[in-house]
Amino acid sequence: MAMVELSIMEFGTNMHSFEEVKTFTKAVVKYAKNGFKKVSIEEYKARIDVCNGCDKHDNGKCKECGCTIAKKAWWESEDCPLKKWARCIL
Ligand code: SF4
Repeated sequence: MAMVELSIMEFGTNMHSFEEVKTFTKAVVKYAKNGFKKVSIEEYKARIDVCNGCDKHDNGKCKECGCTIAKKAWWESEDCPLKKWARCIL
């Protein structure tokens, strides 16, 4: 459980607005409902590759949802708000 709590705290780092807090809270609920599952390292890398080539990527954060990409990409329950990760499903 300590690992899960740490992951949630890291995911939420750098939140600057009420909207980002709201998005983060919804993501945590989805993550919990999904059993705190993470994607494989291969899928994680594929997601990160897509984000690295995306014009919404801004210094480690997604400008579309406000999430910290390096954390969001691990959670199986998360998806790209523009559905750009669809091709990553392995
Ligand atoms: S989550 Fe989607 S919109 Fe956000 S940076 Fe990654 S690919 Fe772009």
